[in-house]
Amino acid sequence: MTTVLDLAGLSVDLPLGGFLSRARLPILQDVTLSVARGESVALVGESGSGKTTLARAVMGLQPISAGAVRFDGQPVTGPADHARLRRDAAMMFQDATASLSPRLTVGYLVTEPFRIHRQPLPDPARTARDLLAAVGLPAAIAQRYPHELSGGQARRVGVARALALRPRLLIADEPTAGLDVSVQAEVLNLLSDLRRDMGLAYLIITHNLALVRHVADRIVVLYLGRVVEEGPTAQVFAAPAHPYTASLIAAEPKPDPRKRRADLAIRGEVPSVLNRPKGCEFHTRCPMARDICRQMAPALAPTAPDRLARCHFPNQPQHKEDHHAVEH
Ligand code: SF4
Repeated sequence: MTTVLDLAGLSVDLPLGGFLSRARLPILQDVTLSVARGESVALVGESGSGKTTLARAVMGLQPISAGAVRFDGQPVTGPADHARLRRDAAMMFQDATASLSPRLTVGYLVTEPFRIHRQPLPDPARTARDLLAAVGLPAAIAQRYPHELSGGQARRVGVARALALRPRLLIADEPTAGLDVSVQAEVLNLLSDLRRDMGLAYLIITHNLALVRHVADRIVVLYLGRVVEEGPTAQVFAAPAHPYTASLIAAEPKPDPRKRRADLAIRGEVPSVLNRPKGCEFHTRCPMARDICRQMAPALAPTAPDRLARCHFPNQPQHKEDHHAVEH
């Protein structure tokens, strides 16, 4: 399969203690992942896991401290490469209404990427109409301003704008956040249709596991800026190899509360990146932690074909989804 996005050993540090300080705070550490043409990859983890930093680093909005980004097989290093990437890969932001300028009409906003990237736009009205139609919105919406849109409409306008230059990759940051369940379903169906019709690849950043089940072929789990598990979505949900993934799945709202796994439910808060735990960085919250976990950091290693986990004791049988659920 042709790879559209390749990240190799990507790290991002932020300065700590002002401009004169040399201390750096590691936010993302040695992240390697790829997205193939037409593939949908979900990047999951709690707040503070580094998901949004990764998206910003890919788009060139956040400097990287180590590693490499390749887009369509070409290295992305300088400003010209990032300009090319931002033309061929679009970002869909979490707060759709806030990311749309309030003084511009929807028609102008959805065609604005042509102006930003100096691409020919012979018939703006028709292009706007076509883009709105592609996301299931009527042409009349082109005359409205962002504050006149519902949450679902604003999200669709965000998608239309992202599609303007026919990108090969769409990076979507929490595409369903803040939407009612019925509108979430609409947006998910729209993303699935666009993928089928346009062969778009997705990198979806989310903590919504229902969304991941619905749209992702593969899942990459981040904890404190490191990949802790990666694999095909159906396999990971059926039998997570890493206790953190098992805890996220156990915490998912279930229609039958008896199927919630209280024994696997995640404990405590994400530790601060200022104070990373020694050994396995998940040991302070891990229900399976043993002595070695507090002393030695595990490596990201294969646990099965196409699967990786960063754990000394992966694939514990109790991680699997089963019917011996514990009530609480
Ligand atoms: Fe838990 Fe130990 Fe695995 Fe870390 S290495 S996730 S503490 S079992």
